[in-house]
Amino acid sequence: MECIFCNIRDRKAEAEIVFEDENILAFLDIQPVNYGHTLVITKKHYDNFLTVPKDELDKLIHAVQFIAGAVKRSMNADGFNVISNNGNPAGQSVYHFHFHIIPRFNNDFTIKPRIKTYGSDTMHDYGDQIRSFISKYKDIYNG
Ligand code: 5GP
Ligand code: ZN
Repeated sequence: MECIFCNIRDRKAEAEIVFEDENILAFLDIQPVNYGHTLVITKKHYDNFLTVPKDELDKLIHAVQFIAGAVKRSMNADGFNVISNNGNPAGQSVYHFHFHIIPRFNNDFTIKPRIKTYGSDTMHDYGDQIRSFISKYKDIYNG
């Protein structure tokens, strides 16, 4: 299937590229939340956060940290978000995994999520549900 980010990597589509090495590419988002909003991708195509192999993810997150520092300083930002949207309900629109680096300025943060409240003891139940998966699959984490 056609992938816009693979096309950018292959120079079949234009992009304002700000960083490139053997494994990583970073370029400006065409619909920036703030100027300097940057997307960072692995050159290899993976659909989402859960399908990126560990060694690739290590390189990616290292690049994100470096580029985030450059974006913050060069844009004179007061802060920044590093986010990834995974799956349609989470807002993912391009299925080539990427991190967004969004420079933020004092008082410009407008996302106000609806906050839920845990009922008595339900927090522990949610914790149990997640812990049971973690203990079942911890061999994957430990490699
Ligand atoms: P997602 O919604 O998947 O988290 O983020 C995809 C991002 O890619 C969006 O913010 C969108 O503006 C950006 N985007 C989509 N198509 C292009 C493109 O052709 N060029 C660039 N530079 N960014 C794109
Ligand atoms: Zn791709």
